[in-house]
Amino acid sequence: MRAIRIDNTGGPEVMNVVEIPTPTPGPGQLLVRVDAVGVNYIDTYFRSGLYPRALPYVPGDEGSGVIEQLGSEVTDFTAGDRVAWAAAPGSYAEYVLVDAAAAITVPDGIPADQAASALLQGMTAHYLVESTYCARQGETVLVHAGAGGVGLMLTQLAVAKGVNVITTVSTDAKAERSRQAGAAHVLRYDDDIAARVRELTGGEGAHAVYDGVGADTFEASMASLRVRGTLALFGAASGPVPPLDPQRLNRGGSLFLTRPTLAHYIRNRAELEWRADEVFAAIARGVLRVEIGARYALEDAAQAHTDLESRMTTGSIVLVP
Ligand code: NDP
Repeated sequence: MRAIRIDNTGGPEVMNVVEIPTPTPGPGQLLVRVDAVGVNYIDTYFRSGLYPRALPYVPGDEGSGVIEQLGSEVTDFTAGDRVAWAAAPGSYAEYVLVDAAAAITVPDGIPADQAASALLQGMTAHYLVESTYCARQGETVLVHAGAGGVGLMLTQLAVAKGVNVITTVSTDAKAERSRQAGAAHVLRYDDDIAARVRELTGGEGAHAVYDGVGADTFEASMASLRVRGTLALFGAASGPVPPLDPQRLNRGGSLFLTRPTLAHYIRNRAELEWRADEVFAAIARGVLRVEIGARYALEDAAQAHTDLESRMTTGSIVLVP
């Protein structure tokens, strides 16, 4: 089968197209023919070496496809079922092994590319707005990178709960996308973000800030919060945030700072199914639109990473094997 392989960490050019044997499913595993691969910002952290991963490896954790073969001990699926997953290492390939425990049946009517993007980014948006800081009707939150994959979904899920959403974006085109997703106010990174957020909240500040940008936005995020507000720092698209003195949380107004990650919010099958079902149900109801900003051939994975890292993309992006 064709796959992307990374032998050394580095820029997008370290992703090579290779021909490798199609894997055989072990106990509890599914062999899936991949229809679409979800490309996520975290894939670039592993590729560059910011996050460690044993080399060589086939990148990617997310996708959707059709079950080709079942390993032993699999009872809940049959060959031919459409499934999606957010935790199957080696997804940048024509075939991937998915643990049955990590596979979710894709409801009829959801196209492969949307299914491939719905789980990792959609369940991240879901846990952020439902569990990390459960935003309530009438509250105000700030979402950075509002036109990105997670940003668009987070905005829509928050707006559906009656939350006022303020976002940041880098271009006019992204501002328009963010507004279409329901953002009430769209700011630019070079605005005085904290001052604008206070202005828009009667001087109080935001109940929560969801920050996946990291280094460049962290200070503005802290300064945008109201007393006892929550900063959910969930990513580092602009680089990691330097160490911080906990006393700053006191001075800022008894703030809460958390650095959450999806794996800790899908700790068992029941929690995974709850989040996945809610995301797919929101898509079915039309509350959540999964916007596929770009599709690339599997061979063009390097171009997909280049575009993602140079902030050229909006919404979710997928590879098509
Ligand atoms: P996006 O589609 O949001 O792409 C990243 C966006 O970040 C860019 O489009 C850009 O939007 C913005 N950005 C701001 N500054 C920079 C910069 N210096 N370089 C590059 N991009 C920048 O990606 P994803 O939706 O895949 O992920 C968003 C964030 O969420 C990432 O940090 C990712 O790691 C994190 N994440 C965390 C998870 C978790 O559980 N903790 C799970 C999933 C994702 P603009 O041009 O508008 O600024």
